[in-house]
Amino acid sequence: MPFQALHTPVLNSRLPKVGTTIFTVMSALAAETGAVNLGQGFPDFDCDPALVNAVTQAMQAGHNQYPPMPGVPALRQAMAAKMQALYGLACDPHTEITVTAGATQAILTTILAVVHPGDEVIVLEPCYDSYVPSIELAGGVVVRVPLTPGSFRPDFERISGAITPRTRAILINSPHNPSGQVWSAADMLQLQDLLAPTNVLLISDEVYEHMVFDGQQHQSAARFPGLAARAFIVSSFGKTYHVTGWKVGTVVAPATLTAEFRKVHQFNVFTVNTPMQHALAAYMADPTPYLNLPAFYQRKRDLFRDGLASTRFKLLPGAGTYFQCVDISGLTVPERDLPEADFCQWLTREIGVAAIPLSAFYGNGFDQKVVRFCFAKKDTTLHEALKRLARL
Ligand code: PMP
Ligand code: GLN
Repeated sequence: MPFQALHTPVLNSRLPKVGTTIFTVMSALAAETGAVNLGQGFPDFDCDPALVNAVTQAMQAGHNQYPPMPGVPALRQAMAAKMQALYGLACDPHTEITVTAGATQAILTTILAVVHPGDEVIVLEPCYDSYVPSIELAGGVVVRVPLTPGSFRPDFERISGAITPRTRAILINSPHNPSGQVWSAADMLQLQDLLAPTNVLLISDEVYEHMVFDGQQHQSAARFPGLAARAFIVSSFGKTYHVTGWKVGTVVAPATLTAEFRKVHQFNVFTVNTPMQHALAAYMADPTPYLNLPAFYQRKRDLFRDGLASTRFKLLPGAGTYFQCVDISGLTVPERDLPEADFCQWLTREIGVAAIPLSAFYGNGFDQKVVRFCFAKKDTTLHEALKRLARL
């Protein structure tokens, strides 16, 4: 019997304003039209074959059943060693690190674990598209604070003004998707001072931690004791090792916070696929791959920026992530006056390059004539995209 013939109860949606994510929409359009896909953020090149071999080995060694609920111990130990070596944070892999199904699950689970209905959670706009629905699913109240228009820098006066006795958490993301902005040590210190007299938790989305350029350093919340003590630090192996489809990440948080996190995690996913965890643990023994990542991506960023420099796209500054934002208002084509989302559709269909409108990262669809390209692509892909964009 076909579904259409059945009487399905009508739902009162938990997320009435949510549709299909812009990343899915633009990737589908790029596939349909044969456009070069610089929209959704993922590499079009493969990961290190050694990593794939490590998964095969883990499977052949019989690591195919449930791992412990918080994750394979060797992977948590490897993460603890990395947090110590890079950020000077001593965390206990047994009680303070949990392996998650990527950063998206880590963020949702954190929010479900700490936010009660009516609690306020501050997000800094533009922000990644999963944050707001995650807060809404928990019954939290979303408090949107804009990053400074143009520079995308944190505005601490506005952040301070948004904190109330009901504020449960603030979500930050550096290096920042979509702008590529990187918070400085001074920024983190300012946040630390601001939160010091409060009980506000910090959810620090650091998935682009290894994509920081121009000699800058990633300022993990782990480096700042006053922040680390109240933080859920979210990482994703997908970004770092070119395996976005594996969906494995971690959350580092003090033991009391981790205990609450795990209460939700165990009923949310219970645990994350075993062979990938063993493979990642073995692969992490050598830090070279992530230590080389800034140079690897900086070269691609420079290639892409140099190529766009001779066009009418205005390049926005950014020292991190694998995204490059451009202002389209200087183009001479009439489509520059379209809303960003329509411009991206046109760019994909007519010019053959997919991009993401920045308006997708704002609750009110704020349109500033800026679109985002992802440069985590083979050089040949970037050259092909640049050739097409040079028509504008
Ligand atoms: N946070 C940000 C800022 C991201 O850009 C992304 C993904 N692309 C995620 C979280 C989600 O990461 P994951 O794929 O590990 O769920
Ligand atoms: N974070 C990726 C981006 O910003 C997309 C991930 C996704 O499609 N959910 O492009």
